[in-house]
Amino acid sequence: MGYHVWDDMLEIAIRKNGKWVYLGYFPLSVLALEVISYLEEKGYSANLGDLVSYKRLAQLAGFGNYGKNALIVNPKYGPWMRIVPVVTNAELTADKPFDQDLCGDCENCIRACPTGALGALRGRRQQVPCRDAHSRRKYP
Ligand code: SF4
Repeated sequence: MGYHVWDDMLEIAIRKNGKWVYLGYFPLSVLALEVISYLEEKGYSANLGDLVSYKRLAQLAGFGNYGKNALIVNPKYGPWMRIVPVVTNAELTADKPFDQDLCGDCENCIRACPTGALGALRGRRQQVPCRDAHSRRKYP
């Protein structure tokens, strides 16, 4: 499932028990739980797919391509989406995988990345090391 998050919502974070909590994920969690409840009421098993690759599944489900910014880039919303997988044994009709490259020659995010983490990745599919890079960085 994907959810378009408006720009300001993505910037809102609160600190709770020593961890950052990003409010942009809350609406998506509510929707995912509604879908899970619906499927369970219909007799299927369903749960949050915490152990699967969100981005890989989003690409296979047709949401967009894996961008150079290490996010799924959607033709309409760009990377301004949040995604969550719901795993179920319900028989569903599969969407087609997204097979376009929306980034092309663009490298704006790589040039803008303050730590150089995206340049180090260059489109490789792995965890972005920006948290590590930020933790080593000195801020005023
Ligand atoms: S390369 Fe360009 S289009 Fe692709 S994610 Fe980065 S900024 Fe977006």
